[in-house]
Amino acid sequence: MSYLAGLEKRISRMDNTPLDQARQALLAAQRILVTSHIRPDGDAIGSLLGLGLSLKEAGKQVQMILSDGVPAAFRFLEGSQQIRKKPEGDFDLSVVLDCSDFERSGSALNGHPTPDLNIDHHPTNLSFARINLIEVEAVATAEMLARYLPLFGLPLSKPSADALLFGLITDTLGFRTYNMTPRALRVAADLIEAGGDLPSLYFAGLLRRSFEAARFWGAGLSVLQKDGRLAWTTLSMTDRRNAGYLGRDDADLINVLTTVEDIDLIVIFVEQPNGHVKVSWRSKPGLDVSQLAVQFGGGGHAAAAGAEVAGGLQEVQEQVLSATRQLFSENIYNFEGIKQG
Ligand code: AMP
Ligand code: MN
Ligand code: MN
Repeated sequence: MSYLAGLEKRISRMDNTPLDQARQALLAAQRILVTSHIRPDGDAIGSLLGLGLSLKEAGKQVQMILSDGVPAAFRFLEGSQQIRKKPEGDFDLSVVLDCSDFERSGSALNGHPTPDLNIDHHPTNLSFARINLIEVEAVATAEMLARYLPLFGLPLSKPSADALLFGLITDTLGFRTYNMTPRALRVAADLIEAGGDLPSLYFAGLLRRSFEAARFWGAGLSVLQKDGRLAWTTLSMTDRRNAGYLGRDDADLINVLTTVEDIDLIVIFVEQPNGHVKVSWRSKPGLDVSQLAVQFGGGGHAAAAGAEVAGGLQEVQEQVLSATRQLFSENIYNFEGIKQG
């Protein structure tokens, strides 16, 4: 029996748990709004399509909303063309996926600060919905949804399986993040069995990039700096223009930087057009950067966190690096061969 089918058998044991409440709410609703977070990543869009398409197939009226729209790199996913930036008309249930607080949902909820259902795996989640399904051990919200769909009695067709597998692959950087679990691999196997196309999704989600993105990397790589086991770099608006890169993100440069040896913490600063700087942290186990991100108004996981900080590149860099060094000096962490005590 597959892992998901095994879970399905346990459905009768659920009784007024948040999972059961979620199931009943989804079952009862006819017009459902599903959304995720601004600056959507693979898990945001994968979770949105995974649940949204499944609910549609079950006969629900579904609005799939991302207030920032669908980034070009994700438009190959079946169903992504159905995603809108703004909700239209009424809905009787709102679901927010992979999103730890109301602000991060952007304008998708039309100002309703308490959505009905929040499904997420961020430890910094504020439980801001009426029903909150939060699993911090889940490697992706898509992993949770892959387990929940059968429990909710919802179908898992190929487009949903592709979308969820895409979320799972991208949030784990191809099953290689430190939080990976045997369960996540089993869920991935079930998604492949349901039609998920692992090699294509892996290439599209993690390897393929535009010429402009590669040039943008060049700008960031050329000013990479380090201080002990801390490394950082910046990407300015000028770098972005020169490279012809259209996104406002780091084009995943941070994932390249985490491959540099003898570095335990990477910070990247991406200048934004609105007088803000997007900061991303990536750390090795033993160093929790999520609270550092919260300190700057953001959030995330122990090993991967981000924040959008008001101010110029230089100023934000100084503040953030100073707080980051502080974390380094205060933390008693214990990597192989490095500082202890
Ligand atoms: P990023 O550095 O943007 O790739 O984000 C790393 C992790 O931190 C992801 O899990 C994000 O969901 C989370 N994150 C990034 N920015 C924010 C923010 N402004 N508020 C809350 N969480 C964030
Ligand atoms: Mn996400
Ligand atoms: Mn996620």
